[in-house]
Amino acid sequence: MFRCPHCEKSGIQAFRKAILSPGLLATCQSCKQTSSIRYTGWLTAMLPGTALMIGALFTESETMEWALNIGGIALVIALPLFFAPLHKAD
Ligand SMILES: [Zn+2]
Repeated sequence: MFRCPHCEKSGIQAFRKAILSPGLLATCQSCKQTSSIRYTGWLTAMLPGTALMIGALFTESETMEWALNIGGIALVIALPLFFAPLHKAD
């Protein structure tokens, strides 16, 4: 569970935060207020994983292609989940 920017309690489910993107809202289970992530924070968190997956397109080694794609998917999920801050939705 992640901390809600409204009530400061752990009211945001991890799965909901993992699939959050700008324009989608997460509802706090404690106070029922909504929050989201901002476009700049989301984009910044998505860049490293996306770069790895683009790099996989240009590698000759099949093993390296798999490694870059798996690493890229892991980063695309983990970085927004743990590092993109939640903000109050207006
Ligand atoms: Zn809350």
